[in-house]
Amino acid sequence: MANAERRRLIAGNWKMNQGGAEGCALAEEIARGSVDATCDVVVAPPFTALAAVASICADTPGNRVEVAGQTLYPKDSGAFTGEISAPMLLESGCKWVILGHSERRQLFGETDETVSEKLGAAIAAGLRPIVCVGETLEERDAGKTMDVVGRQVAAVVAQLGEKPGFGAIAYEPIWAIGTGRVATDEQAQEVHAGLRKQLSAQSAELAAVTRILYGGSVKPSNATGLLACSDIDGALVGGASLDAASFLAIVRA
Ligand code: PEP
Repeated sequence: MANAERRRLIAGNWKMNQGGAEGCALAEEIARGSVDATCDVVVAPPFTALAAVASICADTPGNRVEVAGQTLYPKDSGAFTGEISAPMLLESGCKWVILGHSERRQLFGETDETVSEKLGAAIAAGLRPIVCVGETLEERDAGKTMDVVGRQVAAVVAQLGEKPGFGAIAYEPIWAIGTGRVATDEQAQEVHAGLRKQLSAQSAELAAVTRILYGGSVKPSNATGLLACSDIDGALVGGASLDAASFLAIVRA
């Protein structure tokens, strides 16, 4: 059974999709369909849709949906072409930000150090972080899963410990992202339990209140089993979050 102390969180990462009218329509459906949700619901549209989606959600009676940025730059303003700051995300209506997604790490060269710097900027600004960690297939096959995710979590644990419960960690095995290949409930629970043990070395409170989400090909058909695991406190959903019916089915799972 999942832990009652930690409220479930279902977050949708739209990536570089639904940046205009389509995103507004998707947000409307999700906001309307989440009114009776018993978990926290977050959507992360592209920058171009942030303000519109935040305002659609805020204007939906009984709204339960909060908005996240997909990354940030750890300075408030300045000559950083193409980047967006934590205060700008807040101004656009965001309450959350996804940090260290594997696509940011693999395609844009983000390291544990840059993720940690971004985390510091997010927390200082009052944005709730969802910090992503995960191993490649080669790393898993070499038995290095806990070494890799443990190292990634170690880089952020002190900052998460400053405000226990304020942010979340998302365990996203890279081999399961966008591949349709999901970790089994047992594989996911094993890593989540290992991460929670690691958090407990920092503080019992941090381990007790930090939500650890699973991400990687989560769909309505596998969400119930994953979310029933004792250390899985929610999901970070990519592909299935672009379809309101699928995302809402996961919210209800
Ligand atoms: C993601 O990119 O965070 C993700 C989990 O994607 P998908 O659900 O499509 O695997």
